[in-house]
Amino acid sequence: ILKVAHLNKFYGKRQVLFDINFDLKKGEVLALLGPSGSGKSTTIRTLNGLEDFQSGQITFEGQNVIPDEKHWQDLRQKIGMVFQSYDLFPNMTVLENIVLAPTKVQHREQKEAEAEAKKLLAMVGLSDYAQSYPRQLSGGQKQRIAIVRALAMHPDLMLFDEVTASLDPEMVRGVLEIIKKLSDEEDMTMLIVTHEMNFAAQIADRVLFLEDGHILEDTPGQQFFKQPQTERAQKFLESMD
Ligand code: ATP
Ligand code: MG
Repeated sequence: ILKVAHLNKFYGKRQVLFDINFDLKKGEVLALLGPSGSGKSTTIRTLNGLEDFQSGQITFEGQNVIPDEKHWQDLRQKIGMVFQSYDLFPNMTVLENIVLAPTKVQHREQKEAEAEAKKLLAMVGLSDYAQSYPRQLSGGQKQRIAIVRALAMHPDLMLFDEVTASLDPEMVRGVLEIIKKLSDEEDMTMLIVTHEMNFAAQIADRVLFLEDGHILEDTPGQQFFKQPQTERAQKFLESMD
């Protein structure tokens, strides 16, 4: 459902992505791994139309991704994204946060959107928090809500950028379990950036290993964690133990 071809991106004069090529099939889980500054977040943001790029082509469900406001509005209905910092609206309840975009952007019925939001809250074990405000929630709970909010748009692709990086260790598992469940039970297509190597090993069908804006490996998950193709990736995995 996604194809990236010969993607090059600069920030100003500095090139940060070099000839990135990969594709993602429906239902596939791709882990994007690599050292800090290698371009993982930039790649994810570019796919979503949040960043422009200087050459190459991104196709999502057969359509070119063009990084302007109009296309971005369409795109974000189909591509859900969750970041490290959960950007929930502080002055809205959990339920209001979740139904906002489905009702305002997708013009779904308020009642129907709320009913679905409640189902999703149950799925992530947060049924009791529909009327709470974000400040009343723990980091892990907020992050689960951020995932639910993205899912409420019925995306065809989910992008996760270090969603557990700012969480206390005991909060991490609950969030990762939800992502795993999305793959196992909903067959969700996902691109995941994570520092949790055990989790990546469990869930990734394929691994893209990035360094300095170059893809060094595009390897099946099983193989990458047992025996990566490059020494660089081997070193990276050792450093993550
Ligand atoms: P991390 O693991 O630390 O999150 P990353 O792999 O996500 O790293 P990116 O955030 O994609 O890395 O950054 C890739 C390169 O682009 C880095 O050299 C970074 O300094 C640079 N960069 C990122 N965002 C910007 C920006 N808005 N303006 C200029 N340079 C940027
Ligand atoms: Mg990053």
